[in-house]
Amino acid sequence: MAFPQTRLRRLRQNMIFRDMIRETEVNCDDLIMPYFVCPGAKVRNPINSMPGNYQLSIDMLLVEVKELVEKAGVNKILLFGIPEAKDDTGKLACSEHAIVPKAIRALKREIEDLLIVADVCNCEYTSHGHCGTIVDGDVHNDLTIQTLSAQSLVLAQAGADIIAPSDMMDGRVAAIRRTLDENGFFNTPIMAYSAKFASAFYGPFREAADSAPQFGDRSRYQMDPANSDEALREVEQDILEGADMVMVKPALSYLDVIRRVKDNFNIPIVAYNVSGEFSMLKAAAANGWIDEKRMIREILTSIKRAGADVIISYHAKEFGEMENRDLLSTAVL
Ligand SMILES: [Zn+2]
Repeated sequence: MAFPQTRLRRLRQNMIFRDMIRETEVNCDDLIMPYFVCPGAKVRNPINSMPGNYQLSIDMLLVEVKELVEKAGVNKILLFGIPEAKDDTGKLACSEHAIVPKAIRALKREIEDLLIVADVCNCEYTSHGHCGTIVDGDVHNDLTIQTLSAQSLVLAQAGADIIAPSDMMDGRVAAIRRTLDENGFFNTPIMAYSAKFASAFYGPFREAADSAPQFGDRSRYQMDPANSDEALREVEQDILEGADMVMVKPALSYLDVIRRVKDNFNIPIVAYNVSGEFSMLKAAAANGWIDEKRMIREILTSIKRAGADVIISYHAKEFGEMENRDLLSTAVL
């Protein structure tokens, strides 16, 4: 049946129709808000390239996260650490006194019903800014896996609910799974950054996490943005190694990759709406060029429509606040 019998506009004629047949809806349960935790007290350093985001000391992080849960209705966070000192291998992060385990313990003490995803990588902790141990000018895969496993164990012991390795070493999921299991953390899931591309969209994050590589770039371990068949191989490997969830990062320029993963595997998919994606929108909004709130909603919806079950986004808090305001205003009506 075609036009004029078929008129697709019939089901768009008012909001009740549109609400009824909407296929994709983002809600707060889908979202994870990233935070950057640093040493000190009462520290709240604005990250210039990411308006509304801060490097926070633990006391200030507690205030922020309470607000996230209570005002925005978002109960999941992803933590990155900014350490006091750095070393060659990132071994500093493998101590229970490192900044992230300390923050996790404080959060778990103070805030109920909060899910903490702990990012696992060395790049915030190495003096050279690469994701692992350097041998002959390159990141040594198998040595790096050792520090990642040790770091994962410390994070699990501190109370992390999910371990999320973001390094792109081969075999790290299996190694981390083994370490966690051997130490009784067989119930701690692994969210693998499986298809992580060597992307220019991470630029603002490097200011936030102070983790820019001091030489070369990360394309010897992160993926070539041009490849999506290879992304499926990465995802498959991580699933075989025991990943509970797989991630595609960045999100917006890789919606096709998210969809291919969705069509090929039966596993929860996480998409990371990264710093550059966030900052582009903020810059346009600051210039008055776009309708920011509508665009945030449209972007998050597109990521979910592509196939993501979970979205890590710097918009999580403002999206949650928007949602709660909308609920309140309809309750009044
Ligand atoms: Zn890294």
